[in-house]
Amino acid sequence: MAHVTEGVSFISGQDEFIPDSHVYIIGDPASKDLSLIDAGLTGKGAYKVQAIRQAGIEPSAIKRIIMTHTHLDHIGCLAEIREQIPGAELWAHKEEAEPLEQGDERTVYGMDMFREMCQMQYGLKPGQFTFQVQRRLEGGEGLDIGGMTWEVIHIPGHSAGGIALYHLPKKILIPGDVVYADYAIGRFDLFGADASELKNSLMRLAELEVDILLPGHNQIVTNLPAGYISQTAKQWGPYLT
Ligand SMILES: [Zn+2]
Ligand SMILES: [Zn+2]
Repeated sequence: MAHVTEGVSFISGQDEFIPDSHVYIIGDPASKDLSLIDAGLTGKGAYKVQAIRQAGIEPSAIKRIIMTHTHLDHIGCLAEIREQIPGAELWAHKEEAEPLEQGDERTVYGMDMFREMCQMQYGLKPGQFTFQVQRRLEGGEGLDIGGMTWEVIHIPGHSAGGIALYHLPKKILIPGDVVYADYAIGRFDLFGADASELKNSLMRLAELEVDILLPGHNQIVTNLPAGYISQTAKQWGPYLT
């Protein structure tokens, strides 16, 4: 587990032939009111729980897991983690909470070919990704958790119920798979994705002052240049119509 800044640390994803999302742990450890952001790929839960224990965090201090979105590489090991941290609630945007509760896995897998491949690879059963969601997020709410305030921003486009978390005092943005380092953005060809919504979401994020960018994959950036997201949006604009 790596320290990012006060109240934020992260466990790097361990990509295989399918990526495994990073997990961020947010909140002041002294508050014992910590949140995990995302879980990761199927089979990638154990090392993350181990990293949390090794960092001296009691699993019971983790009160919730907040999903930036519910693709397999983010939610695949949710059940594995919750087995070790049974008290943790699940929070997700309402547009992905609804299908999760109904066992509608179209967002989880994104496309039929991928579903078939993953079900075979991991021995996953249809309906395995059915979860009760304890809090449905809408976007616009301020979450006072772990002694910090995080604004929820609905950023559809990569998936219908994608959210970003933004901590204004330290200008920290956790955008899921919408924008990455190196001027990269998330794919927009999967179920529930929409290129023009992705463009609007990037424009929305471009309005924020961001110093620390903590995406779902690849490098994290702790000294983001001013205008980075708007430049990324501009670069991708012609493809996002
Ligand atoms: Zn994704
Ligand atoms: Zn991802």
